[in-house]
Amino acid sequence: MADVVACPSCGAKNRVGTPPAGKTPACGKCGAALPWLITATDATFDREIKAPVPVVVDCWAPWCGPCRMVAPVLEELSRDLAGKLKVVKLNVDENPLTAGRFRIQSIPTLLVFKGGLLVDQIIGAMPKQALLARLNPYLS
Ligand SMILES: [Zn+2]
Repeated sequence: MADVVACPSCGAKNRVGTPPAGKTPACGKCGAALPWLITATDATFDREIKAPVPVVVDCWAPWCGPCRMVAPVLEELSRDLAGKLKVVKLNVDENPLTAGRFRIQSIPTLLVFKGGLLVDQIIGAMPKQALLARLNPYLS
């Protein structure tokens, strides 16, 4: 699924879909790293968690209050960590296969993948600095 984002460096509008294998999205105009935040479904999940950078999957649902606090934090992290992190949104109501596969019992749950493998699972909302500290070991 392609989303349009403004380049944090030059302001050019870019479509962020699936970059070439092994690459992270970059601005078509100036080459700066772009925030990488996409929406996955049961059908695209396996493809989306394979990335050259760590992937955080936000398992959420529209009726979940704490999920609404996590969403803007992850948006900020995708901007702050452009080129170093990928954020994937997964609506667990619409994608029960993936939610079942990872035994998502309460939301928000964040699944952290590195090299396509699940390396961490964070249950519940967390302030930005705490989340960043938790993710830091995977970012190097
Ligand atoms: Zn640019």
